[in-house]
Amino acid sequence: MQEKRSLMIVYKTEEEIELLKASNELVSKTLGEVAKRIRPGVTTKELDKIAEEYIQDHGAKPGFKGYQGFPNVLCTSVNNQVVHGIPNDQPLKEGDIVSIDCGVLLNEYYGDSAYTFKIGTVSEAIDKLLEITKASLYMGIEQAIEGNRVGDIGYAIQNYCEAQGFSVVREMVGHGLGKSLHESPEIPNYGKRGRGSKLKRGLVICIEPMINLGRKDIVQEKDGWTIRTFDKKPSAHYELAVAVNKGKAETLSTFKYIEEALKN
Ligand code: MG
Ligand code: MG
Repeated sequence: MQEKRSLMIVYKTEEEIELLKASNELVSKTLGEVAKRIRPGVTTKELDKIAEEYIQDHGAKPGFKGYQGFPNVLCTSVNNQVVHGIPNDQPLKEGDIVSIDCGVLLNEYYGDSAYTFKIGTVSEAIDKLLEITKASLYMGIEQAIEGNRVGDIGYAIQNYCEAQGFSVVREMVGHGLGKSLHESPEIPNYGKRGRGSKLKRGLVICIEPMINLGRKDIVQEKDGWTIRTFDKKPSAHYELAVAVNKGKAETLSTFKYIEEALKN
């Protein structure tokens, strides 16, 4: 989700990074719970309910519900939907993909993470789209180190994904994370090496590549939220939060709970 944000960058103390780690750990575990229930026939509304209960049971609040008027706990974006899809009663079916984006608010700090799930077996082209998009996220994270610039992150993601024939959504970007869900700076998934704001220790950012199988163009649906690809081809989305550090970024969220659940 995007909105106008303050241009001021808020650098976090060690204590604040610990709090952000707790929020992002909870969001990671929430997505792990969702992963346990993902299968053909389940509806995105059912997944939304699972996430809401899990977040509340752990003393936190959903981060998206009510945010700018968003109606649900999860953003569930199926197939050609890029981001900000609204959960509904339509069962997911074999061959679908669904990006599930979750936010939590715990001890005044936000967690924010997203993962694109396969429903059963997907086509080879879609499988590759997911694999490359996820790998590009980790390439972006590798660049999130002190002394680099925002453009180094975007360049790494764009260069890798475009080399595989995929395209990078321009209008939707990653962001700073803290007491607000979306802080400065914006973290585009495209860019030039050595350009943009300098990355400094204490900066906490969400990196979230949104990568399309076809053209990069997107449109918004009439519901005022859902973003889909213009050409109606599939799109993938993965998101993790990291704290910028010397030499190696510290990851605050993780896909390990999801990936453990998917193995079973
Ligand atoms: Mg998100
Ligand atoms: Mg985000």
